[in-house]
Amino acid sequence: MVTARFAPSPTGFLHVGNVRTALLNYLACRKRGGTFILRLDDTDQERCRPEFVDAIKEDLEWLGLHWDRVERQSDRRDRYDAAIAGLREVGLVYDCYETEDELKSKRQLQRKSGLPPKYDRASLRLSDDERRRLQSERPSYYRFMLDDERVEWVDGVQGPVSVSAGSLSDPVLVRADGRVLYTLSSVVDDVEMGISDVVRGSDHLTNTAMQIQLMRKLGAKPPRFAHHSLLIGRDGGPLAKRLGALSIREMRSRGIEPIVLLSMLAYLGTSKPVEIRASLEELGEDFDIGHFSAVPTRFSEADLAALNSKHLAALPFKSVETRVAEMGIPEAVAERFWLAVRGNVSGVEDAVAWWDICMGRFEPNVDGEDREFVDAAMAILPNPPFGDRTWADWTEEVSRATGRRGRGLYMPLRKALTGRSKGPEMAKIMPFLRSGCSMKAGA
Ligand code: GLU
Repeated sequence: MVTARFAPSPTGFLHVGNVRTALLNYLACRKRGGTFILRLDDTDQERCRPEFVDAIKEDLEWLGLHWDRVERQSDRRDRYDAAIAGLREVGLVYDCYETEDELKSKRQLQRKSGLPPKYDRASLRLSDDERRRLQSERPSYYRFMLDDERVEWVDGVQGPVSVSAGSLSDPVLVRADGRVLYTLSSVVDDVEMGISDVVRGSDHLTNTAMQIQLMRKLGAKPPRFAHHSLLIGRDGGPLAKRLGALSIREMRSRGIEPIVLLSMLAYLGTSKPVEIRASLEELGEDFDIGHFSAVPTRFSEADLAALNSKHLAALPFKSVETRVAEMGIPEAVAERFWLAVRGNVSGVEDAVAWWDICMGRFEPNVDGEDREFVDAAMAILPNPPFGDRTWADWTEEVSRATGRRGRGLYMPLRKALTGRSKGPEMAKIMPFLRSGCSMKAGA
C-alpha cells in the first residue's frame, strides 16, 4: 500500500519547484494505486494565510493533481504534544533556555575556533539552581537528543546516503513561544498517516537523518525516501530569487497549459528528452523515481514557453472548444478560426486578441512610405465576406497594379489589415477579417 503526501507550507503561492515535488509524489503514488494526501504544514501562524491555502488547492486542481484528503498540522497539536510527552518520558527531549542571541554568539565562537557550529548541550549541564533561575526568567524550548550514530538509508534518487548524526545539533522540536517545528510535526504525521514514500528536495537530506532517528525512537519504520535535485536557472544560479515569476498563477496567466508544465517537470532531470504527454496517466506510465539524477536540474522559462507554443500549434479544436466559446468567438466559425490562429498564440486566451483584430478592433499600422501603396491596394480589395482565395487573388492583383513583390508587397498589407507585423498566415485569417471594410472606407 502506497501512501504519499505533498506537504506545502501555505506561506506563499506554489511555484515550479514545489509543483515538481507535488508531481513526483503524485506519480509515485498514483502509479501504484496509492493514496495521495495534501498536508498543509501550517504550524507557523504568523506566516501561514488562509488565502494561500485556497490558492494552493486551486493551483493543484488546475494542474489536475487531485488529492484524496487534506490534513492540517494546525489541527494536530494534541498529537505532537503526545509525541513530545512520550519522548520526554524516555529522556529524549530536554528543555533549553538560551535566547537566539546567545545561540548565535555560541556559533560564532565555535566558528572562530574552527569548530562546526553545533549545539553544545549546555542545558543538560545546568545546576538545579541555575535551572530554577532560568525557569523563573524565561520559557524553555525543547530539543531532541540525537544518538551519536551514522544514519543510513538507500535513497530513491541519491542512492546510499550516510549522515553522521553526531555532527548535527540536537534539533529544536518546540520553540520558546510554543510553536512546534517541522522536524517533529512532519515525523509524527508521516508515522501516524502511514506515509510509505516521501519524495522531497535534496535540501531536506540532513532533516531526513534526524527524522529517521526520531521515527525509530517513536517505534516506527521510516518510509522510503527519495530526494530529488533542486532546480536551478539557466545561468546555474538558484531559482529561489525568481520564484514569484515562476509561480503557477503567473504561468497560468501567461497561457501555459497544465499538461505542458507537468510533462516538462516529469522529464527534467531524467535522461529522457522532455515529451508532452496527453495526460497524467500517460506521464505515470513513463515514470520511475530512479530515473532522476541527483545533480541540479536546469529549468528554463524560455524552453517552457517554446514547448507550450509547440503544443498549442498542434492542439485540436476539441481540447479548447469550451474556452474558445467563452471568449465569445461564434460557434459557427470557432473551429476554423482556432486552426488558423493556434500557431500564433502563446496561450489559448490569445486567440481572442486575434479575434478582436479580425473584428476590426485594432489600430492599423501603415508606414508613411507605404501610405500610397496601401491606399491603392485597399481600393481594389473586394468587399467582404472574404474567402480562402481572397488573399492570394488580391495580392496578385495588387502586385500587378503596383509592381511590388515579396516582403515589400505582403508586409505593409499585413500591417494594415492586422496592425501587427507577425501573425497567422494571412490567407487563413482573411476569411474572418472585417477590418477590410473600414480600411476600404477610409481609403
Ligand atoms: N513543508 C515542508 C516543505 O515545504 C515539507 C517538506 C517535506 O516534504 O517533508 O519544505
